[in-house]
Amino acid sequence: MNGLDQGQVALLKSLLEQRRAALASQAGADVAAGARELAVEEIETSPADKATVRLLNDLAQEAAGHNAAQLLVLKHALAKFDDGSYGECEECGNPIGFSRLQARPEARLCISCQTRAEKREPMCCPPLIAMFAPVMKDASSEAR
Ligand SMILES: [Zn+2]
Repeated sequence: MNGLDQGQVALLKSLLEQRRAALASQAGADVAAGARELAVEEIETSPADKATVRLLNDLAQEAAGHNAAQLLVLKHALAKFDDGSYGECEECGNPIGFSRLQARPEARLCISCQTRAEKREPMCCPPLIAMFAPVMKDASSEAR
C-alpha cells in the first residue's frame, strides 16, 4: 500500500509526465545546439579556442548525460504506476508519503531509508547507483 488516494496518484503521475516531457524536449534541443556549434567553431579557430570549444563540448555532453540519467529515473518512477508499486519505498515497502512525493515525485525510498542510503556504501548494482548518484544528490538538495 502506498497510502495515496486516486487523486493524489493522478496528480503525481501528471507531475512526472510533465517533467519527462520537459526534459525530453530540452535534452534534444541541447544536443542539437551543441552539435551545431561544434561543427561551426571547429573549422577555423586558434588552438586556445579549440581547447575552449572542447571544454564546452564536454560540458554539453555531461549535461546531456545528466538529462539522460534523470529521464531514466523518471521512466522508472512512471513504470511503477503500471505495477501498482508507485509511492512505496523500494527498500522497506512503507508508504513514501504524499508530501515527500509532491516535492520529489521520482523518489524511490521513504525518508528514513533515503537517509540511511546516503550514509552507507551502495550495496547493490554499484554502476547503476554511481550513475544515479549525482541525480539523487541534486534532487535531495532541491528538496531541502
Ligand atoms: Zn523505506
